[in-house]
Amino acid sequence: MSADTTLVADQVHAAGARLAVEAARFTGFGWMRGTSGNISEVVSREPLRLAVTASGLDKGELLPTDVAVVGSRGEAVAVEGVAPLRPSAEAGLHARVAALTGADAVVHVHALNAVVAGRRWPGGVLLRDVETLKGIGRLAHDDEVRIPVIGNSQDMRELGDWFESGYDPRTPAVIVADHGLYAWGTDLKHARHVTECVEWLLAYALAVA
Ligand SMILES: [Zn+2]
Repeated sequence: MSADTTLVADQVHAAGARLAVEAARFTGFGWMRGTSGNISEVVSREPLRLAVTASGLDKGELLPTDVAVVGSRGEAVAVEGVAPLRPSAEAGLHARVAALTGADAVVHVHALNAVVAGRRWPGGVLLRDVETLKGIGRLAHDDEVRIPVIGNSQDMRELGDWFESGYDPRTPAVIVADHGLYAWGTDLKHARHVTECVEWLLAYALAVA
């Protein structure tokens, strides 16, 4: 495990506290069943470092210390005073999303509507003329929006490559087929709003189809 001497434990645990609040909220919505899903926040840009919810824990009962620090490939990075918990394998995609999009927060949930919509529209979910599109930075009218769907893979490098070629810089979310949703924002609150609006839009698309 590589070490980081610029980050301090207080910074990481403060991020962990914010991640725990978001994770509890999404668990309440049923979007992080079992130990699924993960949320991250960029804590350093140069070099890229993310605080990410630790692997294998119930996301409804995280403590501020249930957090891991990863680098640009999702590799664990040691920070003095932070317990070396295992980051999720999916942290590699979080780091890729943060690097590519400039987002400072990334949410990954196994929301049912995302999986169902991805199966129904494997070429992407088309949306237009609905007010909630404003919640993801698009227009309420006359704006053709496509939520991309990319294939699922256990290989984070492959999944990251598919993300890179499949994502739309104007649309802050991607569905991973048969798996779940990634959404991102300028900070955790923005990423939360995007996640909730995208999930609503996917439910809406399925309801009117
Ligand atoms: Zn997942």
